[in-house]
Order: sequence, then C-alpha cells, then structure tokens
Amino acid sequence: MMVNFPVFKRTKSFLRRWSERMNPRLKLGLVVLLSMLIVFELAIYLIPLPWSAIHRPSSTLVFDRNTKILRAFTSEDDMWRIRTSLEQVSPLLRRYLVFYEDRWFYYHPGFNPVALTRAFIQNLSSGKIVSGGSTLTMQIARMTEPKKRTWYNKVIELFRALQLERRFSKNQLLEIYFNIAPYGGNIEGVAAASWLYFSKEPSQLSPGEAALLAVIPNSPSQLRPDLYPKRAQKARDKVLTRLFARNMISADEYQEALSEELPTTRQNWPFIAPHFSQGISNRYPQESRIYTTIDLNLQVFVEELLAVEVKSLKSKGITNAAAVIIDNRSHQLLAAVGSVEFFNERDKGQVNGYLASRSPGSALKPFVYALGLEKGLITPQHYLSDVPVVFSGYSPENYDRTYTGLISAREALKRSLNVPAVDLLATLGGEALYELLRKAGFTTITPVNHYGLPMVLGGCEVNLLELTSLYSSLACAGTFYAPQTRLGQSISSPQNLFSPGVAFVITQILAEVRRPDLPTCWEFSSLPKVAWKTGTSYGHKDAWSIGYDPRYTVGVWVGNFSGEGKAGLIGAETAAPLLFDIFNKLSSNTTVHWFPQPSTVAVREVCALSGQKPGPHCDILISDFFLTDCSSDVECTFHQTYLLDPVTGYRLPPHYYSSAKKVLEKIYLQYPPRIASWLEMNGQPVEKLPPLLPDWQKLIPGGAPVVRSPSPDYIYQIRPGVPTEYQKICLEAASSNDVHKLYWFIDGELLGTTKPGERLFYSPKTGEHQVICQDDRGRSTEVKMVIRE
Ligand SMILES: [Zn+2]
Repeated sequence: MMVNFPVFKRTKSFLRRWSERMNPRLKLGLVVLLSMLIVFELAIYLIPLPWSAIHRPSSTLVFDRNTKILRAFTSEDDMWRIRTSLEQVSPLLRRYLVFYEDRWFYYHPGFNPVALTRAFIQNLSSGKIVSGGSTLTMQIARMTEPKKRTWYNKVIELFRALQLERRFSKNQLLEIYFNIAPYGGNIEGVAAASWLYFSKEPSQLSPGEAALLAVIPNSPSQLRPDLYPKRAQKARDKVLTRLFARNMISADEYQEALSEELPTTRQNWPFIAPHFSQGISNRYPQESRIYTTIDLNLQVFVEELLAVEVKSLKSKGITNAAAVIIDNRSHQLLAAVGSVEFFNERDKGQVNGYLASRSPGSALKPFVYALGLEKGLITPQHYLSDVPVVFSGYSPENYDRTYTGLISAREALKRSLNVPAVDLLATLGGEALYELLRKAGFTTITPVNHYGLPMVLGGCEVNLLELTSLYSSLACAGTFYAPQTRLGQSISSPQNLFSPGVAFVITQILAEVRRPDLPTCWEFSSLPKVAWKTGTSYGHKDAWSIGYDPRYTVGVWVGNFSGEGKAGLIGAETAAPLLFDIFNKLSSNTTVHWFPQPSTVAVREVCALSGQKPGPHCDILISDFFLTDCSSDVECTFHQTYLLDPVTGYRLPPHYYSSAKKVLEKIYLQYPPRIASWLEMNGQPVEKLPPLLPDWQKLIPGGAPVVRSPSPDYIYQIRPGVPTEYQKICLEAASSNDVHKLYWFIDGELLGTTKPGERLFYSPKTGEHQVICQDDRGRSTEVKMVIRE
C-alpha cells in the first residue's frame, strides 16, 4: 500500500493541475464533445436497424441427390434471392468485390475519410452529387433503406454505416452484401445471379464470372448481360484490367477471363418432380437449399414414361398416372411422379397422385396372407376354402363370380381370389389388417371407421407412397421404414411388421411370374425377376401395380383424378406394363441377387390335398415352404381312417375293440363341412361315411353343422307394405360329409328338414328367435335371429 500510494497521489494532482490550468471555453467544448459522443453511442445502440431489410426471406432451391436442381421457388416477397453464407461465395468474388468497390473495407470504421473528402470536393464543384465515396458498408445501408441522394440522406447513410460496423463483423457485413446486392429485376444476391446466369453455386465461379458479378450491382438494370451484353462486357473487362494492373491476377488468367463468353440469357429453372418439390419446400419453408434423395435421371425417365403411356390411354378415357420408386437398402425415395401433366387443368394435373387417397382394390391381399403365415394358420400349400360364404350379412364374391371349392393359399394369392382372402382375414380377426396399416403409419385410415372384412378387397383408402412403402417392408425382411426424402436425414424408427421368414415366403409367391392375371401378349422370358401384385378398385376407378426386388420397390397407379371409372382401368393391364418398364430400366446391365432364404424357412412334404403335415393315410405328397418357428404341425385332417363293421357296414366309433367282432379299417376323405357341401351342390359328390352303429350315434362328438344363414350378427328388418312371402329368410347350413339330413327348429318347433346344402325358408315374425340346426348324428348348432319392423 505504502509503495503504491505516491503514484496515485501524483496522478490525481496532475489531473487537477491540468484542469485548473485549462481554458474555460476549451473545457466547455470538451464537455459538449463528450456529451455528443455519449449521445452518439446511445443512438448507435438504441436506434433499431432495419432488420427485415438486412435479413430478407430466401427463395428455395430443391436439389436431387446429385445436387442438380429439380425446381426453384421464389421467396415470399416474390424475389429470386437464395440465402448464402460467406463460405459459399467464391474467394475470387470476395477479393474482386473488395478490391473494386472498397479497397480499405477491412480497415475503415464504416466510412473512408479520404474517399469521402474526395467525393465532397467533386460534388461541390459540380453542384450535385456525382460521386458517393461509398464504402461497402454504406452501400449496404443504402440497399436496406433506399433514399434519394441528398446531403441529408448521406449523413443518415453514414450513421447507418457506423451502426452496422458496430453490430457486425467485417465478414458478416460482406455476407449481408452478397445476400442483398441487386442484380436487376427480381434477382438479389450473388447466389440467385450465379444460378440464373451460370447455373452454378457462387462457390464455383470462374474469374470472368466473378468479375461480372462483382460489378453488376453498381448499376443492375444497365449491366444485365442478357439485355445489355456490350455494357456488361465493358464493365467486366474494366474490373479485370484493374485486377491485372494491380497484379491480383496473372497475365494468363487475365487473357483467359477476357475471352470468357458472357451469358446471353437468364437460365430457366428446371421443372422436375413438381409435386414432390412443392411438398418438400412447403415442409421446410425456411430453407434456401433442400438436398433431396430424388434421382433426377430416374425421375425424368418415369415422368416421360407415364406421359407417353397415358397419351395412348386417353382414347379409353384414362387421363392420369402416378409412380414412386423406393431404394430398399437406403429407404430413400428415388422418384415420385404425381401426375402426367402438371399444368393440365382439365385433368387436374396439379393433384398429387402418389398422395391421393384411393381404394387399393386387391393390393392389400398379400399382407393378409403374411399375417396368416405369421400366425401359423397357413403355409403356401395349405388349403383355403373358396366357396360362397356370408359373414354377418357380408357376402364377398370372386372377381369372375366362380369358385373353386378347395384351393391352396399360394394359388389363392396368385390368382387374387376374394373369398379365400376374406375368409383368412375373418379367421385372423377383422381388424388385423387395419392394425397392420396403422403400425405402418398409414395416414389415410382412421380408427373411427370400422373397416372390417371388406378392407382386404379395397374397402378403405390408401395412397401410393404409403402402399409402396408397405411393400418395401417385404423386401426389407419384414421391417418397415418410412421412406426418406432428404439426404442425410436419420432413419426413423423402424417397425417390425413380419418375421424375415414370412417376408421371404410371401415374396416367393408374389415372384412366381406365370400368373393368371398376365395379359396374353406379354413376353415374359426377358423380364427381370420381380415380386409383384396388382389391384383394381371397385368400379374400375383405380389400376395399381406394386412390385419389388432386393434393391427397389416400385409403385404405379393409373386412373382419373375425377374419380371416373373406365373399363380399361385394370391393374394387370394398365398399371403392370408401366411397372415392368420401370424395372427393366432399373435392372439394365445389372445382375440382381435374389433374397437369401432365412434360416427359419425350410421345405417339408405335405399332403397334396390339405397342404397339412402328412398323416399315415395321405397318398400324394408335395413339397412346401414352412416356417420352423411358427407354422402349424397339425396332421392332415382330410385323410382319416374309420372302423367299419364288415357284416352290417355300420361305422364303428374310434378305438372300438371287440374280441368277438371283426373290424374293417377304411380310409375316407373328409372335407371341412363348408367345402363338402359346396362340392356336393356343384355336382362333385363326396364320399359319404356310412352311418354310425345305432347304439353309438348319440355319443359322437364334434363336426356340428355350420349355420350360414341366418346370421347372428345381423338384424333382419321387415319392410312394411311388402308381403312377408317376399321377405322370407333363408336357413342354410354346411355340414360334415357324414350327414344326410338336417333338422331346423325355430323356438323349439320343427320348421322342416333339408338335405345338406339345401335351403329352407322362414316367413319372418318380429322378435328374437332361437334357431337350432341339428344333423342326423344328433350334433346341433344354435344361433340367434333378430327380426325387427
Ligand atoms: Zn392328407
């Protein structure tokens, strides 16, 4: 303390002495100056800058996966202004601009006293403002608040320049300049100018191009190279000459730059993937550049392909198509075509066909089979019944209104039969398919709608993109990934829909090319291997075809945005040719290695008739895929042995044993009741089991009749005024093939008897009734029948 004290004392006394000796006027002057400085400093920080003019909204460029532009959108104030960081501007342009416009930019405080004084003298002598002496900072001030050139405005500009210098670093100021500098018309900033004149980012400019872009903002309307090429060239060359004179460029660079051709036109922005580009720019409105996963070449190929195909379909009243391609390995969307003519208003070309909600027809069927496989209900050769059936008043029909009786799951899927698919979904539970689509993120379905069984035949809405993504899960070992649309986007949480074994087996079925829905004119031998499915919505309003191989999943939709149905709108005929055209393009010159068989998939012998694991009496066996972890092990239920009394011919109960009696063992083919009665009705008599030994009849369990009508879930309405004889309710049941007669009881009273497959009619009376159907073996089924007025 004692050491420091004298120093402090000396300083204080010096200041006091200096103050006492000072001229009072000078003192006052100093105080005023100091106050002014404080006011000025306060003004710098308190007067707000014109922020909205400094940070202006950006246009959006949408790029493909190889940085080629798909489409560009003006900013919200209708300008071509692409936000750009300083790093994205070529160092050449940065150097040229500073050199040509404001050589002391990095050293001055916002204004250049020398340049200002020189301009002041020039302006005084000419009587008006001819020279601005402006720094880049002052130019920014003027761009953000354009004003007439007056002395007063010049002072404001100077103040703004000082303000800008306090708020921003030199590099930030340069960046602002590069973003808002005018380039004539509605072009602002170097990026928009660079793209519109040279079709490239401002980071890739040549010396000649950089020189031109450095000088245009001096007089943007007069130096536009597309309108005034000579003036523009002169201005550019002037910049280059000065650069050369100052040794900023070599003689070779100078000569080369001088010989560069000037752009003669502004480029037109490309107009590729218009629906997709619009969608993604709407989703990311703040971004100046969106780098997407689309492959421009593939996109253009598909756009042109659809346009040509739809042109040839116009005579049939078919006006639109859409298609998407997904990369199964990266889960990226490679192409997305929304319509064939974006600007065709009559055919609603601006509707985005790959996002439009439409009925999928049969296109969801493979997923019901996949669910059935996963639950162990079926394997490819397992039987399904293809006979007329009523589910709670809902009675699906096959497309051609014929039935086969008994069919394998594989064949039913390949032939896209309706009844077996509905039957399988009914066994799975009506909402199983809805739950699957919900898990796969389908946005077109709602929990409010009770879709039920018709969903598998297209009784719901889907969009092409989501449907194609669902198919791509079959190509991705059963795991669903939402398709990515931006490069570098992280993969959203995958959903496990099926086991790899299920995906493989369904794929094998869908890949069998010899399918009945193929048009006859096709030559298939040269086509790449593809697992695929078609769909045709009710009323021929939509034709679908979706296919995949290990690398790609492709979805095609053809139809009218008006929703009008046309006879030619059939998936296999209208959409499938486009699907294979796309696959041919994708597969050209490449060998695709098909999906490897997962370890959970194996091959076994099954009964050729039931497709079940063979029992000792199954005579013909075929091989079939099965899943080691979930397929059923139940032995064939069709081929059964029965014990007969060789004397009377009566059937004996199972495990019958008598030391006194000889017993005969015989194999009978036992179809499920529904199939048995359908075969019988259609003239294919099935072998009847002999009647049971009379004493044992009442003891036989199982195999009760299945009542097909009336339906317990349906409320029958009596229409007033219509005679009841026209409103009779049909009673019908399927029964086992050991049955010869069925007895029908309504509320305990015998109404009548029928043979299996025959119908009986009941004149309705309002109320709740008990209906009992009993077969001649004593087995009975009871259902409820509700009739209302
Ligand atoms: Zn069998």
